[in-house]
Amino acid sequence: MTGAPTRRLPVPTPPVTWETVTSYLERLAVTNHTPVRDIEAAIDASPDKVSYSHTRTLNLDKLSALTGRPADHLRRVLPELRQPAPRWWLFQAFPRPACPPCVRRHRGGTVHRYYPHHVTTCVKHNLWLGTRAPAATAWPVTDHAINVKRLPEIKTAQIRHRRLVRRYGQTAVLIATAAAFDAWEYIHGRYVGHSQSQRLTVLRPAAPQYHSQDPAFHAANYPEIIAAASLFVTRHWQIQAISPMTQGQAGAAFCNLLDLSMRYDPWPPGHRSRLAILIENHIRPYSTHHNKISSAGISYTGPQPGWTTQ
Ligand SMILES: [Zn+2]
Repeated sequence: MTGAPTRRLPVPTPPVTWETVTSYLERLAVTNHTPVRDIEAAIDASPDKVSYSHTRTLNLDKLSALTGRPADHLRRVLPELRQPAPRWWLFQAFPRPACPPCVRRHRGGTVHRYYPHHVTTCVKHNLWLGTRAPAATAWPVTDHAINVKRLPEIKTAQIRHRRLVRRYGQTAVLIATAAAFDAWEYIHGRYVGHSQSQRLTVLRPAAPQYHSQDPAFHAANYPEIIAAASLFVTRHWQIQAISPMTQGQAGAAFCNLLDLSMRYDPWPPGHRSRLAILIENHIRPYSTHHNKISSAGISYTGPQPGWTTQ
């Protein structure tokens, strides 16, 4: 094709729910055998990103004309184009490849999309999608999505996680998983517990050692993270955990779900270990603003969108 396309592209290419704009534009280019630069020129896209925090702009009406899809529909499906902006802190920090079998009918290459913190596994296809909430630090799973069929406890944890969100809401569960994740890291450091080690043997049979950003490493302790978060999020446990007389018992119950290698005894009233303070910090009241959640213990701003409308 010569020059920028100004009319509707010949091959209809629907966007995937919560797809990134960059992913969508790249697929439009591939399915229509058109350089992505021509697509960008046709929608008045601003120049390339100059830094991570830079957000590019595009003309939504022109994108609508180019794709033949109503602007309202594009806004609904592509979070970067929403107005007002979505609550970004409810999404994992980085977009990730969508479950390959789920998006098989969508052509044009890998679909990259935003995921909320509580979506970690495709329960239909038994595939680990990359990271345990709320830490979004695992490498993206691209070529070889991790099949967790042989570890049914991971799928069970994912079902439980989604159920917790329906019952307690995304924010409360995000904080509970953050508490569980931080406490797990504090307890285990760079090492894995016994059950994690067994799961890693299944997921990475040939690996002599593990990297903390390997998505398999994240999958391996996900059941314990969710077990502990399930306790943390309950009102009953939180009341126990802030009362001086019962907080040692509550803290020990929480840690015993994260660490199966030893038994934690209730700590005495007034006990101030780093673990006790870490747990207490996460129970503190938090505030949410449009683009941020914060408390003494945690702070989330979510992903940095790559695009916005002019
Ligand atoms: Zn799937």
